[in-house]
Amino acid sequence: MKFEELGLIKPILDALKAQGYEQPTPIQEKAIPSILHKKDLLGSAQTGTGKTAAFAIPILQNLSEKEQHRNQIKALILTPTRELAIQIEENFQAYGKHLKLKSLVIFGGVKQHAQEQQVKRGVDILIATPGRLLDFISQGIVKLHHLEIFVLDEADRMLDMGFVHDVKKILKLIPAKRQNLFFSATMPKEIAKLASEILVNPVKVEV
Ligand code: AMP
Repeated sequence: MKFEELGLIKPILDALKAQGYEQPTPIQEKAIPSILHKKDLLGSAQTGTGKTAAFAIPILQNLSEKEQHRNQIKALILTPTRELAIQIEENFQAYGKHLKLKSLVIFGGVKQHAQEQQVKRGVDILIATPGRLLDFISQGIVKLHHLEIFVLDEADRMLDMGFVHDVKKILKLIPAKRQNLFFSATMPKEIAKLASEILVNPVKVEV
């Protein structure tokens, strides 16, 4: 299978070529078409499978086709750690380098001022850890009225790190009508339950 066969636009295909990617990984092959069709998705995948590109590529493509709500947050990716958040944002930068979308990463443990200034300059795709995001929402810095796509990454680690309560709070603050993508390396009962509370008729992808 080739990236060309997944229905991707040229600016993204060019960026993937520049990355040296020759073909989609199994999760990319399965997830990209469903996400492009705006379906909810439940992905069982470890880090190292190419799962970040599996969601970043179709999110970039779908948002690039929109004129409305430029520079407002339309996709939110929640992830448990600062390191993962930074890596995810680097993926969005790389695959979206020929597009006009702005991505930004916010996380706790550092002063908020620089991140706050960046949010105020406008963001299309926000990658965040839960605590800093809740802080920014409560201060009115981050506004999510135009959110269309919600991604929960590494859900099992979110649970292990005690973030599930924060995740549930965030879910109450975002528009109900949206596309949801849920990724977890393992699917214990609690994670399956959380997934069933978030996802609507999800496509299931296991790698
Ligand atoms: P991830 O599972 O998202 O952490 O990705 C693991 C690594 O695989 C990252 O370094 C990616 O840059 C790389 N990668 C993702 N997709 C592909 C692909 N289709 N071909 C080659 N490398 C890839």
